[in-house]
Amino acid sequence: MAVKAVIIGGGVVGCITAIKLKENGYDVTVVDKSVVGEESSAAGAGIIFPLMPWNYESRVFDLCLGALSFYKNLSIKLIKAGFEDPEFIESGMICIDPSDKKKIVQWGKKNNFTIKEYLFNNRPSYELAKVAQLIPTKLMKSLKHIYSSLALSL
Ligand SMILES: Cc1cc2nc3c(=O)[nH]c(=O)nc-3n(C[C@H](O)[C@H](O)[C@H](O)COP(=O)(O)OP(=O)(O)OC[C@H]3O[C@@H](n4cnc5c(N)ncnc54)[C@H](O)[C@@H]3O)c2cc1C
Repeated sequence: MAVKAVIIGGGVVGCITAIKLKENGYDVTVVDKSVVGEESSAAGAGIIFPLMPWNYESRVFDLCLGALSFYKNLSIKLIKAGFEDPEFIESGMICIDPSDKKKIVQWGKKNNFTIKEYLFNNRPSYELAKVAQLIPTKLMKSLKHIYSSLALSL
């Protein structure tokens, strides 16, 4: 008999955990006080990176790199399986005239992360080319379907 698991909260964290547990044979129930996938996980901007990574510990950056490849692969799988496309794109992120310019350049070099320097509206700007984003509402729509049908392995 399958081991029963109850997940309290059906945001992106709860849904992905539920899918992973189901794949491993658990009998999973997601309990939510509101509507699954309609709280923070639907409100987010979908940027898969901290806004100012140079202000965080390196392990946060490592976690973000993992998230970049996780969500990129997940998006490809969702599209192939016919689910809603969460529209993952490596859009990059531009920091316009930040106060800590030296720190940004040093951080990029240290982490081997491409940062383009240029003028944007005559203001010194820095583009972090690899930063990605997706549309959280579309991701949650797909995750809800997968959770109930389990038609895709993450
Ligand atoms: C405006 C905004 C913009 C954001 N932009 C970004 C961004 O660009 N990039 C990024 O990485 N992150 C962003 N975030 C943060 C990101 O959305 C959250 O970190 C993420 O969605 C959290 O997911 P979660 O599953 O932990 O929480 P949630 O999506 O909030 O899910 C938690 C669920 O638990 C339920 N719940 C709570 N308490 C109980 C209870 N006692 N019993 C039962 N159910 C309960 C809630 O109803 C909810 O459905 C943003 C957040 C907001 C609000």
